[in-house]
Amino acid sequence: MSWSARALCALYVVTSAGLAWTAVLEFGHGPAWVGCLFSAASLVPLIAVVRETERPGTGATTTPAAPDATEALVRAELGAACCERWWTSLGTSHDATCRHPTHRSSAA
Ligand SMILES: [Zn+2]
Repeated sequence: MSWSARALCALYVVTSAGLAWTAVLEFGHGPAWVGCLFSAASLVPLIAVVRETERPGTGATTTPAAPDATEALVRAELGAACCERWWTSLGTSHDATCRHPTHRSSAA
């Protein structure tokens, strides 16, 4: 977890503690529904802490998503495509430096 993620988690915990303290004060001196509202609100930053620690790239252990069939198909099509001229000529000709030297243009 990076220092910014740790700082963000600390901010979430402080915010949650402030909301929980406000809930305690409201249960003691204010309307009960406000105390319930602040109690529920104090849980939201804790959910954010959990999500922050589970986010990929923060050092948490996550498994990469398995490529699905669509992604595999796109990768196969992109792997079969070779050069820019092949794209722009709708697959009828290739660049001179193309690794697939089968030029089938009408000028040949
Ligand atoms: Zn090509």
